[in-house]
This record gives sequence, C-alpha cells and structure tokens, in this order.
Amino acid sequence: MKYQGSCLCGAVVIDITGPIEHVMYCHCKMCRKAHGSSFASFGLVSKENFEISGIDNICSYKSSAHVTRTFCSTCGSNIEWNDSSEFGDGYRSFALGLLDSEFEAESEEHIFQSDGVKWGKCCAS
Ligand SMILES: [Zn+2]
Ligand SMILES: [Zn+2]
Repeated sequence: MKYQGSCLCGAVVIDITGPIEHVMYCHCKMCRKAHGSSFASFGLVSKENFEISGIDNICSYKSSAHVTRTFCSTCGSNIEWNDSSEFGDGYRSFALGLLDSEFEAESEEHIFQSDGVKWGKCCAS
C-alpha cells in the first residue's frame, strides 16, 4: 500500500497502490464551490491502483456533461472528480485533502487560473 486516505468522518477510505501520477489545482468556479475554497486540489491515479471502500456512504453530483463529483453523505468531504470522456479514461482523480499518508508531488499544475479569485492565492502565483 502506497498511500491511504479518508474522509472527515472516516466512513470512506481510499487505498492507492501505485503512484499519484499528477496533481492538479483547479481554480474554476465549479471546483471553488464544490470545495468551499479558492481552488481544489486533485491527485490523479491509474484506475487499477485505486480502491475505495465505504461506497454506500458516497453521493454523487453530475456537475457537467462528462464530470461526476462525489462526496461523503455523512460529513460532506469531497472524494472524487471523474471525467467520463476520453480525457479521463483510465484515471481516477481524488481530492488530495483526503490523504492521511505523507506525499510530495513530483508533477503538478494549476489550471483555470484565469477564472480564479483574488483571495486565497498566496501559493498559486
Ligand atoms: Zn465522511
Ligand atoms: Zn475545476
């Protein structure tokens, strides 16, 4: 097991058995609202390296044609952002804030920064 994560209440647990291949910080309006923050932080993992338990506790919201966001129905923690188009094929992208394990990103990028807000940008410039 490489990395483990959990939601705030602990009902949802993720086990990542391979590398977190890429990290994205998304500043778009939908991510800001969903995360209640100035930007959202996601880790991308190959599907075969991602296991999730507590799925009875997961609710989902389709925020655009191809995108489904999931969250814990008890504590509201963001769990995943998944794209069903070919862009997201083969990957799961999870909210990095779930991680209980230490992790240092080797590959990271900020996206939709032009849609970003003026507050909460201290680390994003
Ligand atoms: Zn929870
Ligand atoms: Zn976004």
